[in-house]
Order: sequence, then structure tokens, then C-alpha cells
Amino acid sequence: MNNNTNNEYLLSDLSSLKGVGRKTASLLKKKNINNLFDLLWKLPKTYTDRSLSLMIKDLKIGEIQTVTIVPQKYNFPRIRKLPNRVSCADETGEIDCVFFNSYEGYIKKILPLGEIITISGKIGHFKNKYQITNPKYVSENSSLIKQVHNKYSLTEGVTEKVYNKIMNQIIKNLPNFNEWHSKNIISKFNNISWNKSIKELHKPENIGNFKSNFYQRLAYDEIFSTFLVNSEIRKKIKKIKKKNKTINIKEQNSLINNLDFKLTNDQVKSLHEINNDLSSSNKMFRLLQGDVGSGKTIISLLSAINTINSGFQVAFMAPTEILTRQHFNLAKKIFPKNINIELISGKSEYSKKKDILKKLENNKIDIIFGTHAIFQKKVVFKKLGLIVIDEQHKFGVNQRKQLSDKGGIDCDILLMTATPIPRTLTMTIYGDMDISIIREKPKTRKPIKTYSKLEEKIDDVLKFITKEINLGNQIFWVCPLIEESKKLDHTSAVKKFEYLKTRFPNQVSLLHGKTDLEEKNIILNNFLKNKFKILVSTTIIEVGIDFPNANVIVIENANKFGLSQLHQLRGRVGRGDKDSTCILMFKSNLSDNAKKRINILKETNDGFLISEEDMKIRGYGDVLGFKQSGIKNFKLADPIHNSDLFLLAEKEMKRIENSNEDISKFKPLIKLYDRADIINDIA
Ligand code: ADP
Ligand code: MG
Repeated sequence: MNNNTNNEYLLSDLSSLKGVGRKTASLLKKKNINNLFDLLWKLPKTYTDRSLSLMIKDLKIGEIQTVTIVPQKYNFPRIRKLPNRVSCADETGEIDCVFFNSYEGYIKKILPLGEIITISGKIGHFKNKYQITNPKYVSENSSLIKQVHNKYSLTEGVTEKVYNKIMNQIIKNLPNFNEWHSKNIISKFNNISWNKSIKELHKPENIGNFKSNFYQRLAYDEIFSTFLVNSEIRKKIKKIKKKNKTINIKEQNSLINNLDFKLTNDQVKSLHEINNDLSSSNKMFRLLQGDVGSGKTIISLLSAINTINSGFQVAFMAPTEILTRQHFNLAKKIFPKNINIELISGKSEYSKKKDILKKLENNKIDIIFGTHAIFQKKVVFKKLGLIVIDEQHKFGVNQRKQLSDKGGIDCDILLMTATPIPRTLTMTIYGDMDISIIREKPKTRKPIKTYSKLEEKIDDVLKFITKEINLGNQIFWVCPLIEESKKLDHTSAVKKFEYLKTRFPNQVSLLHGKTDLEEKNIILNNFLKNKFKILVSTTIIEVGIDFPNANVIVIENANKFGLSQLHQLRGRVGRGDKDSTCILMFKSNLSDNAKKRINILKETNDGFLISEEDMKIRGYGDVLGFKQSGIKNFKLADPIHNSDLFLLAEKEMKRIENSNEDISKFKPLIKLYDRADIINDIA
């Protein structure tokens, strides 16, 4: 078979297997097992060794054993409660096979008198005689019984026997692929082939052998194929020829010089990388990654001005109205007067919206700010040159690709995220984009002091807050996340609000999931204008909003949050030049482990480092909800335990990109492992 037929075979329907009827196939489909390849990752959990056959005299009561016998006599009592019995024997003794609720016909069929039969099961003992009750492993063909039988976590309705049968079939007919990896890479896994690796993986004695060469090789295959697909998407998008933008450094510098702060080195570097992309004739598809408060907005606005000065329009999208308004106001403040800036808001009147749409179509608006509404069909740009998307770490690969298609050929794409992720995950999640990273925070930032407090010491917290309020400062009070239940979250926030109101009359407002959008905007605006002092909320306040006057955040029941999430919440304060404080409240004394976790937060404000630690504790899927973001669920690979393989794959990927190596030899690999929809697009 060649590689193509191999692929076809492995990706073929389950019904091509013997012993898999329509019913079994549909049961497996429910478990997302659709083809032969999917079954390869259904691994045995444990196994029972039935390979050794004993004589009756040597049987051990209470153990699962195999014995070859001849049925001698049926005893079918025809009284309901009494079981059917078959007396069997070998040269050394006697054993009864006992059947509850079995038809005589069935028993006669599997245990015909006078034939040599191999049976296996747990050996029991009754009235001084050995017996096996309801034996499941019975055959005239001893080789079918005398083997190691794998135990699988069962899909309802599919028995162990059926699994063993189909798995054996697949493993027996497993195709041999031509090696897709380079000699250098495959030598790191003792040159073990894919075929051999799968076979080893399924051997019962190899269960859980994570460090072995076959396991590592297969994990590497998975990682590498993900990277390769991402890289191909990136290359494909970048190959699109566009009209390049001109960078007017003089104008850019005059804007920078008018700011009331100095850009950090990382900001300058990121701006430079974006400028290079804008002025190139290849389409930009770039992610600007930087911790909360690292100053991404200003960089994106400077990129926008370069785009506008080159005669293009810019669409700037943020997830919420208040955030779009904040960016809009900043643009109005720093851009020259001749730039036409607009905000499209859900609240705008119909006639105003119509007017904006018309102006966009006639190129009378240079930059428009809005929520996802700016990507509706009826919004038509005359000459869109750049899309900026803020705080969209939950965009999956597919959505990002659609976005780049929508902007049209001349449109560059800049995504921004304040979600630092562990290095091993960067290529997995963002490998389809070029990345600029702002690691360094503005020098004026003071570290946020982080404390933990027992809930019963709430009076200390209130005292502290009173002092801060008297200094003119504002407070975020985040109510606990209560196990999965939004309803309870809500109740606890309301209760806390009522309580704090009695202590700080007229100074507290409440935001929760049920607050309607308009009211929410009013509350946030009032907070921004310092019209009240304490904002009580569930976790719904989004990242990104700049409240320079709020310098204290209280987080209740803090052990319900992951480290990254606490870090994000904490990032809502500490944006101004005041001293800021984060108070983590706990219901009971912390365990040593929890203390260790919290100490990481106290000691560092580096979101990247915190995300690494968070991943080690919670696993990669949970780090800030990446599970829903289209990040692939790996079958074997694990970013925590296989971080060396992720780095190896990254290095190899770069080597292949730099040397422009032909990737067609990897096609069988990516066809097996990856998302067919994307593959069709790039292959
Ligand atoms: P984020 O990266 O989280 O989106 P923002 O762009 O909202 O951060 O910036 C947070 C705050 O920091 C804003 O008030 C912004 O004006 C300010 N800022 C940005 N860059 C600098 C800098 N280099 N020095 C001081 N303050 C800065
Ligand atoms: Mg931001």
C-alpha cells in the first residue's frame, strides 16, 4: 500500500471492520470515534492474562484462570431459581460450569458434550467441587482464549470481547507509512516507526509507559502536525499580495512625543514589527500579546495612523461598548484633527447609524470603533486597510482565518490579547500568526501589593478600604464564583452589595450577569467618573477597561479561581501611578499547597510566569478557558509533561520554514491527525 491508500484505510468508516455492525458503529460515534484512526487512541486500561492454561487439579480458587476441559453431562433442573450446570472434566479432576439465566440451547451450543473446549474465568468452589459461574470466555479454538485480554473503559453497549476483536483487527492490519520525519528527529526516538509505535502502544504490558520511545514519538507526531498546519495557514495568508502602506516616521514620532509617557522598549519593538508588516507587500496576520496594562492600545493606534495616512480605513473592534468608547476617546485625544474618527454603538439612533454606514462606504470615515457589530454584512468599507481586534484570546484558528478573508486582500490584521500563555502553548494556539510580545510593563507602574485574608477578618479589610476611600480612591469588590452556578453567584453578589451599602451608604453599586447592557454602561461610566466608590460585581467586568482611579481590588473566595484568572482580575488595578492593593479573601486557612500557589502571585506580576505555574497546577485545557477556544485536544501529547517535545517540534518547524523544505512528505501525517477542513484549504 502507498501512503495515500494507507490514509484512506485508516480514515475509513468503522463498518469496514469485521464485527462492527451499524449498532456498534453508532455507539462508538457517540464517543466521537468515527473511523479506524480514532480507535487507535482507545487504549487498554488494564488487562487480564488468560494465556496460561492449567490442569484442574492445579486451579486456584478466587483467581481468573484458563483450563481446557471436556463437557460430560448437562444438568438442567427446570426450577426457576436453580442454575443450569454442565459437569466438565480433564484427566486430573472435575469442574462445573454454572449458568444463571441462560438458555439451554445456548449452553449446548458453547459446551457440546464430548468436545475439547477451553474456558477462562474466575474459579469458584461449591460443595467440594470447582466451578466457573457464567463463563464469558469459552471456545473450541483455544488460541482465542489463551491470550492476554485487554480491558478498555467501555462504551455502553460495546463489550470487552468486541473491543478486543476490533482492536486486534486494526493492529493486525496496521499500514506501514514511509517515514515522514527527518533522520535527525527520528533518531531521537530510537528510529521507531509509526507502525511499530502504535503496536507497542497497544501492548498490555506497555500501559502507561509514557517515557518510552514509542509513546514519545507518537506524542511528537501530534504536536508537530499541529504546528505544521498552523505554519501552513500562516504562510498561506502571508503570501497574499497586498498594496503596501507607507510609514511616515516623522508623523508617528510627533504623535509619540506628544504622549505624556515614554514608550517602553517592548512597545517600540512591537511597533517596529507591525510597521514592517504594514509596509511590506505581504498581508499582515499578527498577534500583539502583552499582559494587562502593558500598553497595547497605543501601539495599535499608532499602527492605525500609519494605515490611515496611506489612504486606507481602519476598523477597530473591542468586545464591549465601554471598551470601544475608551479606545475611541483615546484616539480623539491623540490623533490630528483632520482624521475622521467614529464610534458605532448599539445605542446610536437609527439615522445616525445609517449616516455612519454611508460615510464608511464613501471613505469619509478613517477609523471606526465598535463591537462585533462592525463586522456585520451591511457594514461596507470603501478601502479597509487594517482590522484591529482587542482582547480576543477566545478566537479560534478558524474564526481568525475567516476574519482575514473578510477584510479583503489589502487588509492587514492585528489581534491583541492580554492573556499570557505558557511558551509551550504559543505555537499550538497562535502558530498561525506572527507574534509581537510586550513583556515589560511601563516603568511608572508600581507593583500591586497582594495580601491574603481570612473571611472572618473582614473588618480589617473594611477599615483599610475606608482609609483608601478617604484618600479619594476607588475599590473593586469581586464576589466569589460559586461552583458552576450563575444563580448563586448572583445571590452572593447581591447580598454583599446590601451589606456594603449599610457600611458605605450611597457609595456602592452592583454589577452582575443580569444587569442589562445599558445599565451596565451607565454604572461603569459613573465609576469611571468617580461618582461612587465601591463597585461590587461577579467576575463579569471585562479585562481591558482602564480605571486609573481604582487602586484596590478585593477578591472573595479566592481559592475558586486559577492563578491566571486572579492575575487578570488583579490587573484591573494598578494602572494609574498610585500604590495599589489586591486582597485575596479565603474562607478557611490555606493548605500548604494553596499557600505556595498564592505566594507565586504575591511574588511576581509577570503574567507569563504565572500562566506557566497555573498550567502546572491545573492542566493546559483549563488555563483561562482555552478549552472553548478551538485548541485541539491532544490524544497523547501533554504540554506539561512533554514540554521538551513541544520545543523540539518548534525548532524543527523553524528549520523547515527557514530552509523552505518541501512539506509534501508530511501530508499523510497531517491528514491523519488534523482538521480536515483546514487541510483541504492548504493542501
Ligand atoms: P493593555 O495592554 O492592557 O491594553 P492599555 O493599552 O490599556 O493596556 O494601557 C494601560 C494604561 O497604560 C493606559 O492608561 C495607557 O495610557 C498607559 N500606558 C501605555 N503605555 C505606557 C507607557 N509606556 N508608560 C506609561 N503608561 C503607559
Ligand atoms: Mg487593552
